[in-house]
Amino acid sequence: MSRKIAFIGLGIMGKPMAVNLVKAGHHVTGFNLEQSAIDALVAAGGHGATSIADAVKDAEVVITMVPADPHVEQVILGEGGVLENVKPGTLVVDMSSITPQTSQKVAAAAAPKGVRTLDAPVSGGEAGAIEAVLSIMVGGEAADFAEAKPLLDALGTTVIHVGPSGAGQTVKAANQLIVAVNIQVLAEAVVFLENAGVDLAAALDVLGGGLAGSTVLNRKKGNMLNREFAPGFRIDLHHKDMGIVTDAARAVGAALPLGAVVAQLVASARANGDGSLDHSALLRGVERLSGR
Ligand code: NAD
Repeated sequence: MSRKIAFIGLGIMGKPMAVNLVKAGHHVTGFNLEQSAIDALVAAGGHGATSIADAVKDAEVVITMVPADPHVEQVILGEGGVLENVKPGTLVVDMSSITPQTSQKVAAAAAPKGVRTLDAPVSGGEAGAIEAVLSIMVGGEAADFAEAKPLLDALGTTVIHVGPSGAGQTVKAANQLIVAVNIQVLAEAVVFLENAGVDLAAALDVLGGGLAGSTVLNRKKGNMLNREFAPGFRIDLHHKDMGIVTDAARAVGAALPLGAVVAQLVASARANGDGSLDHSALLRGVERLSGR
């Protein structure tokens, strides 16, 4: 069934996701701060809007994919934002990675207006967004998840309802903990192998076929081999996510010793000017620590 979808936030992730919804036969109207991304959506068969109000006025479903909590609050709750301009009955699906608390705040603000919400953050990176193979972790009401599922299936291959409002963000926080620690330890192995004079490409190939193999290794080894750190997923965004998981874990009494160390290393990467690079650039921090 073709749906009328408004898509707010056409960045590294949002643009290919919006294009995939067009390819799946939906009527997609996009809005973004940079006009070039709106033009790209239009070129792919979508529609452009001049404001959030313009994008959402006829929408049955609104999807947001913006950087962080303040952007979600501004776009959905703010003046001229989604809640001010949608019809009652609209389903708002926020796919940004933010705190569970902000997802719950959005849900609480939407309910009295008859607007339903889901938090549906994603994993799989830019490549996963382009190829429509994202993993999507969804918090909210089961009936709203059932309505959104056919749309989300056009964006990902693993789409799972994990609990009530905010639960999607809690699972995403765990995802970011796992990914950051994996990238850091992969970077440490790379510096060790290079210092030892081993053929790095061969080493990473064989490691990828054993128990040390992982999606992180397979996806990020090219960045590390070639010192190619264009994002991808910016270290600034991973810094935000390490803050989210650190706070969420503290609130429930869970200790994250490795997570705490890696959060500091991500902070150090930013302090050294690497915030706008891909998170595989944690390698540069290991190189600095190793005197390179
Ligand atoms: P991005 O910075 O490339 O894109 C964000 C977009 O939001 C920008 O194009 C910006 O114009 C738009 N935006 C911000 N404020 C807006 C507003 N008020 N109105 C309209 N548009 C607005 O970021 P991204 O990499 O696409 O990440 C988006 C979210 O997805 C983040 O929460 C990130 O943590 C998460 N995420 C990213 C990746 C990745 O690999 N890049 C993977 C999984 C999840």
